[in-house]
Amino acid sequence: MKLGTKFIHAGVEPDPSTGAIMTPIFQTSTYVQEAPGKNKGYEYARSQNPTRFALEKAFAEIENGKYGLAFSSGVAATDAVMKLLQPGDEVIAANDMYGGTYRLFTKVFEKFGIKFHYVNMQDANNVKGYINSNTKLIWTETPTNPLMNITDIEALAVIAKQHKVWLCVDNTFASPYLQNPLDLGADIVMHSATKYLGGHSDVIQGALVMNDESLRDQLYFIQKSTGAVPGPQDCFLVLRGIKTLHVRMQRHCENGEKIAHYLRSHPKVGKVYWCGFEDHPNYEIAKRQMRGFGGMLSFTLKDESMEATNKLLSSTKVFALAESLGGVESLINHPATMTHASIPREERIKNGLSDSLIRLSIGIEDVEDLIEDLKQAIG
Ligand SMILES: *Cc1c(COP(=O)(O)O)cnc(C)c1O
Repeated sequence: MKLGTKFIHAGVEPDPSTGAIMTPIFQTSTYVQEAPGKNKGYEYARSQNPTRFALEKAFAEIENGKYGLAFSSGVAATDAVMKLLQPGDEVIAANDMYGGTYRLFTKVFEKFGIKFHYVNMQDANNVKGYINSNTKLIWTETPTNPLMNITDIEALAVIAKQHKVWLCVDNTFASPYLQNPLDLGADIVMHSATKYLGGHSDVIQGALVMNDESLRDQLYFIQKSTGAVPGPQDCFLVLRGIKTLHVRMQRHCENGEKIAHYLRSHPKVGKVYWCGFEDHPNYEIAKRQMRGFGGMLSFTLKDESMEATNKLLSSTKVFALAESLGGVESLINHPATMTHASIPREERIKNGLSDSLIRLSIGIEDVEDLIEDLKQAIG
């Protein structure tokens, strides 16, 4: 089945009691049982909810996996993966990733005795030197937020398999329309469904998808035991969002490409970070593992002063100054003070994230209006 058809039909079947084509929002906390222990497979809504189950099935289908699990946020999904580990275990994580993931690892899980190594994964071989008998998990994100670096998922998966450690890929930026990490050998795919899957900036949610049944059982146990489940209304919204993922992503990619080239040709723009440029250091890997280059890009002005950067950030009219990404509307963001403020400055600068970096989430508006807006804002 082709992608569009799959996204529209993923997870949903007509409601058996009414034929409703859309999965109903089962806004209930519990289920009436016929007799003690005799029920219809639904006991309590933290463990089972039909709207959530439809969405979890959809998550699995769109990532070509067997099992999907939904969480109350992307970081809750990441948190669940970390709870597979025990004190003494070690994780190799990308040195360039979503600030909230870094904060969760350093501020929450380090104190439970888990050790993290932050490694530049633009060359997958760099992880080899950090693997030892305590290593349990490799955590990566590609393209990365906000520098748009690319990691070779297949190469990492080979190393992970060799050493019998799990590979988890945060696939938020690419979305399943552009990239399917399980097909490339990853063990777990993580999403902030808040972004492209939901697609309309109206819900916070996370997802995990996997093929291994025992991994699914462990993660389902963590999901129901720690309780970070999404409500049925939010599940409905994400189910609805997924139906138009392919159409939205096509436009995100088209607009992203045009704006990347526009910015690169602008005399006042410094560096443009976008993985679709043929001279991007990992362009060949991006082309191989992705079906397109997406709608995320970052750039700096030649004048890297905070005055110039701030002036631009507050001058756009169509691009809204806000955190988050992946919605239909275009957003402009200042990683150093907004999305990545939780990473210490020295750490950020060391990894190439300067104070003057500006990140764009290109929406699906008419691209002429977006370019016009950037033109007047850059001045
Ligand atoms: C937003 C985001 C997250 C966290 O997801 P929430 O839904 O905000 O909890 C994780 N990874 C990436 C790449 C993100 O952009």
